[in-house]
Amino acid sequence: MKGILQPIILLVLVALWLPLQAQQNKRWQQQVNYTLDVTLDDTLHQLTGLAQYEYRNNSNDTLRYIWFHIWPNAYKNDNTALVNQTIENGNTALYFAKENERGSITGLSFSVNNQPTGYEPHPTHIDIIKLILPQPILPHSTAIITTPFKVQLPNYFSRGGHVGQHYQITQWYPKPAVYDANGWHPMPYLDQGEFYSEFGNFKVAITLPNNYTVAASGNLRNATLLEQLKTTGKQPSEKQSIVNEYKALLKKQKNKSAVNPYELVPKSSKQQQTWEYELSNAHDFAWFASKSFIVNYDTLQLANKTIDVFTYYHPWELNEWQKSTTYAKQATRFYSEHIGPYPYLTVNVVSGPQNGSSGGMEYPTITLITIGEGGQALDQVIAHEIGHNWWYGMLANNERNYAWLDESVNSYYEKRYIARYYPTTTTTKFDAKFASTNIENALLQGMMRTQRDVPIATPAAQQSSLQYGLITYNKGAQWLTSVANTMGTHKFDSAIQNLFKSNCFQHLQPQDFFNALQPYFPNTSDTSWRDGIYVSGNASPYQKLRATLFASFNQAATTQYINITPVAGYNFYDGILAGMAIHNYQLTMPRFQFHVMPMIGTKSAALSGSGRVSYHWYRKRYWLEASLSAFRFTTDNFKRPEDDVTLHQRTTRITPGIKITFYPSDARNTTRWWLQAKHFNLQEEVLDFSSGVAQLQRVQRSINRLATGVYNKRALYPYSADMVIDQGDGFIRAALTGKYFFNYNSSKQGVHTRFFAGAFVYTQQKTLLQQFATQRYHLNMTGPRGEEDYTYSGYFVGRNEFEGWQSQQMLERDGFFKVGTELFSNRAGQS
Ligand SMILES: [Zn+2]
Repeated sequence: MKGILQPIILLVLVALWLPLQAQQNKRWQQQVNYTLDVTLDDTLHQLTGLAQYEYRNNSNDTLRYIWFHIWPNAYKNDNTALVNQTIENGNTALYFAKENERGSITGLSFSVNNQPTGYEPHPTHIDIIKLILPQPILPHSTAIITTPFKVQLPNYFSRGGHVGQHYQITQWYPKPAVYDANGWHPMPYLDQGEFYSEFGNFKVAITLPNNYTVAASGNLRNATLLEQLKTTGKQPSEKQSIVNEYKALLKKQKNKSAVNPYELVPKSSKQQQTWEYELSNAHDFAWFASKSFIVNYDTLQLANKTIDVFTYYHPWELNEWQKSTTYAKQATRFYSEHIGPYPYLTVNVVSGPQNGSSGGMEYPTITLITIGEGGQALDQVIAHEIGHNWWYGMLANNERNYAWLDESVNSYYEKRYIARYYPTTTTTKFDAKFASTNIENALLQGMMRTQRDVPIATPAAQQSSLQYGLITYNKGAQWLTSVANTMGTHKFDSAIQNLFKSNCFQHLQPQDFFNALQPYFPNTSDTSWRDGIYVSGNASPYQKLRATLFASFNQAATTQYINITPVAGYNFYDGILAGMAIHNYQLTMPRFQFHVMPMIGTKSAALSGSGRVSYHWYRKRYWLEASLSAFRFTTDNFKRPEDDVTLHQRTTRITPGIKITFYPSDARNTTRWWLQAKHFNLQEEVLDFSSGVAQLQRVQRSINRLATGVYNKRALYPYSADMVIDQGDGFIRAALTGKYFFNYNSSKQGVHTRFFAGAFVYTQQKTLLQQFATQRYHLNMTGPRGEEDYTYSGYFVGRNEFEGWQSQQMLERDGFFKVGTELFSNRAGQS
């Protein structure tokens, strides 16, 4: 007893001592102070500049090199980490970009403490270099590094670049990677996956034609320019001149609806002016420039000071952005009250063009908003992006590795902001059914139930783009809501305020976050609340079953909806079919799924329709589905000449089947393998003339199918291949089909290729009679017509027509050569 107890006490003591120790040895971090001086050439879309860095090595290590990010090179060719990621995310625009749309950085020539030095390329990424230090930087000493640089600004593919003469200048200057207790953190620029940078102070000078307005991080130092911004930002009359200028430019355009408003800009002035900024305690600097910015200005009174609030937008956004400063003020105050006081002297919000990575993007003291909407949507995005001044700006985590620590936490506060300022949003029934947040929630539930999700703590770049949106933002915020509810929101707020106080302007680690919250839990040693970010799954079980017209996403987490939808169809023999579909197909992906669709044909006056039931076993690496489907339709008719009675020949098909689809372990890999076994039981009514008068006779036959395949629906070079083996009375038929698409531009134009091979084997003696009996199963160089679709798998308007437009249809199967064939002729390519 004693012997066991002693080590336990010792362990407890060690456990108590460790956090204490960590507190005493306050974590060090490097400091980089920047002086950046650039000139914009708005004809060539180039920046030419000079960068000076005061690099303070606060570590106990001697540095012999410094990893530098030169991120404009992410746009340099078609094989960078950024390009590969955008392709994987389904966007090939940057891959197919023309040379003059790409970006790059050149002209680097480093000196360290006035000693010229070289750099080495990164082994993998052209947007990272290793600066070789001529003299090592000793612990707790400083080096002055300088380099000229020239940036060719790319088109606006990701977060930065230009649209005509509107400039989003982000991730633009050579920048040291972070060196911390875990060593160096060089990282290529990515669209999905953010940043990690050293804190420091900025002095930035931006020179450009003097009819541009610049919106930038930090405090504008030119008194005249600042006064000008404030004046125009307060006086509507000054804004009117920009609106008038834009309207005059628009008037000159012939096709006004086709005009991209960003293309309509006044000529640039020949005179230049320099905008100078200062910013302390920040780890990035972004700026935006446009000749048609409209400025709104207001002040915000915080507990200890007054700060300047500026918003910048375009003449065509006057209505949407009318209340933008109100939103910015409200958000800055909300976050100041809930987390800690905003320490900077200015807060800025800029409207920018939309692109694939649209929504908003945060930079210290300035945010870019690209949603193209006003009202609550704009308020919400502004609040979210301003919130990042805390979660990213002042509490600066490694966003690439721990996206949850800025995005999940910030999304949680965004939810609270919306709950605070839009508490009683009265929605119509329709809005509640189809609200985008409800749809998102349904998607998330479906993703979790089908085990296609990943833990919240998964790094951004390892998630699919859908996962990143649904899990890091949505599920992460939900997790934190439940954490706050468990400990009590007041306690949660106190914990976060303490975290802010002791970590402001520092690199925040997940452990800091955990340590800050842990003491506030009822059981201070129970760390199970953290598990929420390390496990996947946990879809809510359905608690209610509810019938709904069409569909609903309202209570997606807890309700399984039975959707009732009127449906209509048509085929030549039943005529117009009218009926209803009752099904439980929904984004939350129930394990048991069904549909029944009874319909009445206006021509056949018969009950037709289809139904299907299936059960799904959803696993991480595979989905298994067992199903049973059935249908009954009229598939031919015959007008008996003797009595003018129309005989409706009907077909019933019953198909039990089982299918397994395999998923790779990498969530971003879109390759899928599948294997399927199916049995088709068919009852076809045929004409029987044996009595001298046509009668309907039911003929039964069956087909057994074994099929397998692989596909990848990626954006660049998608492909599929499948092998289908059918066995029926007297034959086995094997068909192999391959497809490949060669894209040649980003708008999905390209060359489709299709490969087909097949074999037909008689399992009984091959007699003429047998050949005739199996004719509809034979392989075919053209696509099959209705009668040859022997499993009734395709939709035919008039499946058994020999003439008229209804007969001019075939399925994409077999050879699929579209050649003209004589009526009743032998099949093309058959020998
Ligand atoms: Zn965010």
